[in-house]
Amino acid sequence: MSFLTSLTLLKRRPSGTERKSREWVKVGIPRFLNVWGTAPFWTAFFQSLGVGKVVFSSETSEEQYRTYGKGRVTMDSCYPVKALAGHIGELLHKDINLLVVPMIYSLPSFLKGYVQDTLSCTRVMMAPENIKAGFLREGDEFAKRGIRYVSPFVPFGEPELLPLYLYRALRSAIEDITMEEVKLAVEEGFKALREFDRKARELSLKIIRWCTTNNRPAVLILARPYHMDPGIGHEIDAEFQLLGYPVLWYNYLPLEDWLLNWLFGKDVEEGRIRHPLDISDVWTSSYSSNTNEIIWGAKFGSRLPWITAVIRLSSYECGMDQPTFTPVQRIVESSGTMFFKFGELDETKPSGSVRIRVETIAYYLQQYSQKIIEAKLKRLPPVPHQLVVY
Ligand code: SF4
Repeated sequence: MSFLTSLTLLKRRPSGTERKSREWVKVGIPRFLNVWGTAPFWTAFFQSLGVGKVVFSSETSEEQYRTYGKGRVTMDSCYPVKALAGHIGELLHKDINLLVVPMIYSLPSFLKGYVQDTLSCTRVMMAPENIKAGFLREGDEFAKRGIRYVSPFVPFGEPELLPLYLYRALRSAIEDITMEEVKLAVEEGFKALREFDRKARELSLKIIRWCTTNNRPAVLILARPYHMDPGIGHEIDAEFQLLGYPVLWYNYLPLEDWLLNWLFGKDVEEGRIRHPLDISDVWTSSYSSNTNEIIWGAKFGSRLPWITAVIRLSSYECGMDQPTFTPVQRIVESSGTMFFKFGELDETKPSGSVRIRVETIAYYLQQYSQKIIEAKLKRLPPVPHQLVVY
């Protein structure tokens, strides 16, 4: 057997699960809430099922909401949930016949095993049903366009249950689908998600190495994953980059053992925590996935010397963020790291005031970063050699 033939055999799918071509299935997925952070899963999942195409809605914008979502919101909610109306409305105008709006119950968090649970916010879970109602009120807008609306229950935190829920949701729309295919597609989805995660964390480590080697400060963003959406987070992170400050996101920080041991080793040794990913010393009600990661990000930011400022973003009417504001600020400021908050973000991009605030923060970064780096370095063992690029 030639080497190439053996590679082909290795790649072959298990018998009975040959990829079917389903060119006729055109999937639309809104780019909303926790689809940010899980998008690679969805693309790989549907590709594995052989669908014709997967289309995501555009990034959130005021124009998108006004054009497609106006009048579709059925109850008052936080801005990221309301914005879903614009995404669904936009997708109704695309060439799709299956609209998939995942009801994400829990998330595949890197803190799993060290926290009580990895649940989504309840508003994230209910958003697909809540906003769908607005498109049924004056007639079924989906049926009118020949589009099937499917909202699978998605427990990412319990991957063994995922195939069953996705199979049950999709079999009404894709009649020849089998459980075996869905299992395989879920595996492909997780593989893609892991790979994306790995690359993103690798890039964060690269940034930290650059800061270490050049003794330069970085800014850490603490937010929800969907604040990466320019229409939700208003590109506040990009404003810092424009001023020359590298930006790290809490959800893609590097997790190398040597780095975590350097930052958290003393806390583990002294019994304050049982593992570097343990947050029970500062947050006991650790059920919400994004909240847990924000809290852990605050701990990381308070320890890493080159993170000299932490920027907190929060959306209009976010109930989940309220109880975390003070703990996060205390964790960060107790280390001498600067803390700034941009709260109540909604559809209006306050460009002028954002720029003025960013420029003010940049002034503080320039004035105080070196002192903060030195003070934080003094509290830690010598810098690990893996951080310095020669
Ligand atoms: S976490 Fe906050 S912004 Fe996100 S869906 Fe829940 S309430 Fe809304």
